[in-house]
Amino acid sequence: MTLARLGIEAEPGHDLPLDSHLHTDLSPDSDVPIDVYAALAVERGIAELAITDHVDFDARDPAYGYASFEVRERSVRDAAERWAPRGVLVRFGAELTYNRTWEADLRAHLARHRYDFTIGSVHDWPDSPYVPSRVGTWAANRSLDEALAPYLAEITAAAGSGLFDTLGHLDVVRRYLHGSFTAPEIFGAVELFEPALRSLVDSGTALELNTSGYRHPSGEAYPGPPLVARYRELGGQAVTAGSDAHRAPQFAWGLEAGYRVLAEAGFTTLTFRRGGDRSAVELPTRLRVPGAAGGAA
Ligand SMILES: [Zn+2]
Ligand SMILES: [Zn+2]
Repeated sequence: MTLARLGIEAEPGHDLPLDSHLHTDLSPDSDVPIDVYAALAVERGIAELAITDHVDFDARDPAYGYASFEVRERSVRDAAERWAPRGVLVRFGAELTYNRTWEADLRAHLARHRYDFTIGSVHDWPDSPYVPSRVGTWAANRSLDEALAPYLAEITAAAGSGLFDTLGHLDVVRRYLHGSFTAPEIFGAVELFEPALRSLVDSGTALELNTSGYRHPSGEAYPGPPLVARYRELGGQAVTAGSDAHRAPQFAWGLEAGYRVLAEAGFTTLTFRRGGDRSAVELPTRLRVPGAAGGAA
């Protein structure tokens, strides 16, 4: 995989089997009613959706306590009933913000509440150096290794926790460090992400290909193609893909490009869960790369 892919042209996805990362107006940073996504899915031929509103465990985070489990579940289950007759399957997921500080709370939440599908993500937690007001100054005097270290410690722990179906936007730290380090610089140090990638393989957690990066200045998916390729080389077999839409025009945005990154790394299926065992979702045949070895569910 070369860096020539940087700056790929993304466009709205259509005729794809699954967008497994979507935020509705039950997330504080989204304004999209669930039916808007479902209607877009009918229009564009996206067969299945996972609604993954934020679940946060730090009271300083806007998503903390924003919508209860019961409210979120009812919203999704009711929509699933409305839209199944029109050919769109809607699943109840969550994007749970991980940090070692609140891992016990997160574990207790997942023990009490059943989701169809879970994404674990590390965001710029309130005590972190990555909050926008201080990250530039903080990173200015640091090497790339030093600047990545606090994030990598959390994402590696999240990957090894075994708590989630998939790990969200594994290198979103690129977004936080944008302006201090370029994507090619970070992809040039792919070995720094290997402990996290190995932890995914060891814990059997899937790697998410998150296409929100196509909307951000770095212009590349999270994680970037070199990290997807390395995950595959390390024995990674399970991948998911989602647009991480927070606005209606972002629905399935860049999803075909994201699927293509997975196909080019050798994957032929996505891994999904619908509340029971994992199952495999085939990539469209138009995206198959000759000689791809196939991915297990
Ligand atoms: Zn996220
Ligand atoms: Zn998200």
